[in-house]
Amino acid sequence: STLLQRLRQAQDNLNACITISEESALEQARAADQRRAQGDSAPLLGVPLAHKDIFCTRGQRTTCGSKMLAEFVSPYDATVVQRFQKAGMVSLGKLNMDEFAMGSSNETSFFGAVRNPWDLTRVPGGSSGGSAAALAARLLPAATGTDTGGSIRQPAAFCGVTGLKPTYGRVSRYGMIAFASSLDQGGPMARSAADCALLMDVMAGHDALDSTSHPQAAGRFSAALGRSVKGLRIGVPEEFFGEGLDPEVAQVVQEAIQWYVRQGAEIRPVHLPNNVHAVSTYYVLAPAEASSNLSRFDGIRYSHRSGSSVDLQELYLQSRYEGFGPEVRRRILVGSYVLSAGYYDAYYRKAQQLRALIREDFRRAFAEVDVIMGPTTPTPAFALGAKSADPVAMYLADIYTIAVNLAGIPALSLPCGFSKAGLPIGLQIMGNYFADELILGLGDAYQ
Ligand code: GLN
Repeated sequence: STLLQRLRQAQDNLNACITISEESALEQARAADQRRAQGDSAPLLGVPLAHKDIFCTRGQRTTCGSKMLAEFVSPYDATVVQRFQKAGMVSLGKLNMDEFAMGSSNETSFFGAVRNPWDLTRVPGGSSGGSAAALAARLLPAATGTDTGGSIRQPAAFCGVTGLKPTYGRVSRYGMIAFASSLDQGGPMARSAADCALLMDVMAGHDALDSTSHPQAAGRFSAALGRSVKGLRIGVPEEFFGEGLDPEVAQVVQEAIQWYVRQGAEIRPVHLPNNVHAVSTYYVLAPAEASSNLSRFDGIRYSHRSGSSVDLQELYLQSRYEGFGPEVRRRILVGSYVLSAGYYDAYYRKAQQLRALIREDFRRAFAEVDVIMGPTTPTPAFALGAKSADPVAMYLADIYTIAVNLAGIPALSLPCGFSKAGLPIGLQIMGNYFADELILGLGDAYQ
């Protein structure tokens, strides 16, 4: 209950939570105590966590950061939520996020911006900003996040915590409200790679309820920790150290990579020539998928319903206009445009072709190296409001994270130092398909 109190008290400063569920948390904690008393020794039994408010939780509202779902109570639990429940973890509530996970600063949330605990005038990153801020403020030891184009790694970097975007298909998307289904992946956020591995032990696994879940999704992540760095081949792509990268970030990240070299790793140059196209490719494909996924919010079945409509057509239009914020509306418009007859070939098909090239870049690189390292973000956390009027500037916050989602490979962000102003900086470790265990182990070695 002290934890719950602290979560509540921190709301004024951080606004990291959308819902704090005291009663159900205490009930779960009592159940965990009972299991413990009966000799249950599950490693995460009784450990508190909170979920990004994109994961459906039965009997408790799930808002996805949107007015559209501000009153929505899911009739079922997401697979991820269920798995943590079974493991005996105690869920304290639901964490703030950008509306429908669209954003890089947590400023698009209907429930207000989240602030960065390291500097309350700065953003925590997004879209899993509530998760990152709560962890950084030591309000929680563990949280869930989702990553469609960087939403676990970028806020982890901005807040000085660790987050893993798993290989696509290792974590079930069932009950995780869809943004761009071919890119969305849930993952753990915590204080360390070792903690992320413990969470992945529970979180990952095949799920018949998600058709894109991989049959071999499960793994023994924590068992793979403590591995040696000797002989490791690290690819360092020059495309990740070019224009737009803050020199302080470059220096801190290079120093972290040098740590691995001192432990016996070797550096090999690799090229990701199509990374320059990653952001533009993503901002065709992700809105296209979003426009389709979000068409279910019609004001009839379970979302916000406008009170001022005269007929059905207007009810749809008005409910969606009132329920969605400006960034979500922008994505739906862009998505409908790129999918429309006449533009499909020029945009959507082209973007699919670029996606294949980006995937191919990684395939070629991973023929030469075991992992790829670089910065997670081009700059440390920026000021609240600094980019909210300029969507393209906001989109560029993800230049180093998006290609990973387009390829479907795993990547970890871990804190590796600070800027002179005292803001955390993240190192990104990318791995080949199913190298989640490897990159967690390498993060753990550094920590
Ligand atoms: N910032 C990116 C976007 O707004 C990525 C978000 C995400 O990963 N969910 O789409």
